[in-house]
Amino acid sequence: MTSETKATAIHCPYCAFQCGMTLSMGDAGDVEIAGDPSFPVNRGALCVKGWTAAAASIRSLGIDRGLPFPVEDIAGAEAVLLMGDNPAETMPPMMQYFDAQRENGGRLIVADPRLTLTAQRADRHLRLMPGTDAVLANGLLHILIRDGMVDEAYIADRTEGFDRVKAEVRPTGRSGWNGSPEWPRLS
Ligand code: SF4
Repeated sequence: MTSETKATAIHCPYCAFQCGMTLSMGDAGDVEIAGDPSFPVNRGALCVKGWTAAAASIRSLGIDRGLPFPVEDIAGAEAVLLMGDNPAETMPPMMQYFDAQRENGGRLIVADPRLTLTAQRADRHLRLMPGTDAVLANGLLHILIRDGMVDEAYIADRTEGFDRVKAEVRPTGRSGWNGSPEWPRLS
């Protein structure tokens, strides 16, 4: 890029991370695309899909703006649970936030039947039997409700139908939905 070349800030449209990119005209008239180091989410990093998007001249395929929270919040979280999610391979720029979270003393827990790259970087890998993720979610929700750890204001503000969910949640035993043994309290 020459000193006179002006870079235009754009976004990768492929996923919810919406990584910042810069688009500029090279000396030979070719288009140059790079990760934008000033963009606060990806800080210059792009994944393979992002580079594919660049090579495809950023055709618009629809925009997924699915992250329901500021991504910087990850670095300040005491614990993060990823259920069947593998950002180390599907959304690599996100991993810098999990690295920061762990440097800050936080813990990353990955529930996934597969030993993914993300699971290998986690503090704890819950290697579930396929099809038992709902049992885990039910059991965790049971503990949160039982021990009064639900953020009621957040639930009231951001969700609907939580009373119906509460009525359905059951204690989960090791053998599944038998409703008998209580899970241990979290400490
Ligand atoms: S993580 Fe990859 S696909 Fe998602 S927005 Fe960033 S570059 Fe695009």
